[in-house]
Amino acid sequence: MLYLSRRVDFSAMHSYEIPDWSEEKNEQVFGLCSNPSGHGHDYKLEVMVKGELNEKSGIVVNTVDIKQLVGGLVERELDGKFLNRDHAYFQEHIPTTENIVTYLWNSIAPQLENCTLHRLRLHENPYLFAEKGEKNMVTLTRKYHFSAAHRLHSEHLSAEENIELFGKCNNPNGHGHNYYLDVTVQGEPNPVTGMITDLGDLDKTVESVVLKKLDHKHLNLDTEEFKGLNPTSEVVAKVIYEMLDPHLSNLHKIGLWETEKNYFEYFGPGE
Ligand SMILES: [Zn+2]
Ligand SMILES: [Zn+2]
Repeated sequence: MLYLSRRVDFSAMHSYEIPDWSEEKNEQVFGLCSNPSGHGHDYKLEVMVKGELNEKSGIVVNTVDIKQLVGGLVERELDGKFLNRDHAYFQEHIPTTENIVTYLWNSIAPQLENCTLHRLRLHENPYLFAEKGEKNMVTLTRKYHFSAAHRLHSEHLSAEENIELFGKCNNPNGHGHNYYLDVTVQGEPNPVTGMITDLGDLDKTVESVVLKKLDHKHLNLDTEEFKGLNPTSEVVAKVIYEMLDPHLSNLHKIGLWETEKNYFEYFGPGE
């Protein structure tokens, strides 16, 4: 099986507002997004399909066909529109990123020929994307940032072995990184709010449970969580998962960017 991906961009406006609710309740649930005049985003949609290689042509499917199908749909229905007002489906369903990605999945999947829709990832901005896969529920990934120092050193290895394995990362006084943390939650969009999680609550939880403890700290010296542990990014991803899991009922995955070049993922025990 081969997988290929095509990106389609569009801009759209939306407002999160349930007409039956009072202004106060809308503001309480949707925050700034409840502004009835609307606001907008430059969305990036990644379409990944899978299929068997056609031995004659050397391709699975012509990416131009994907571009025409998805690009055409997006251009007709979403690009340059105020979704709540201009789109029949989003007059009835709040145009959250989760709802938009679900709508696009249901519209695109049945129309593909010679390939199957494998994954749709819709970026609302560089810090937030919703994703739908073949078997998955919808997921929502929020990106956070923290800076921290660490020293890679294992108590189970000799001084020489530590230097051999970790090189300059074994520097006794440590070194630091700009970490980017991707927190992914999963679920079905709530039929009323269109959300799988309250982003404000998620931000507060990540801030109080993780960022407050790790940001601008030396992981080996200043934190309880890494006492006696070697804070490699594998371990940092796993520890952050364990810190958040008791507070998030729908935690799916932790992604950790140690640098722009090094990325680590942890799905919890057993996965
Ligand atoms: Zn928005
Ligand atoms: Zn490092």
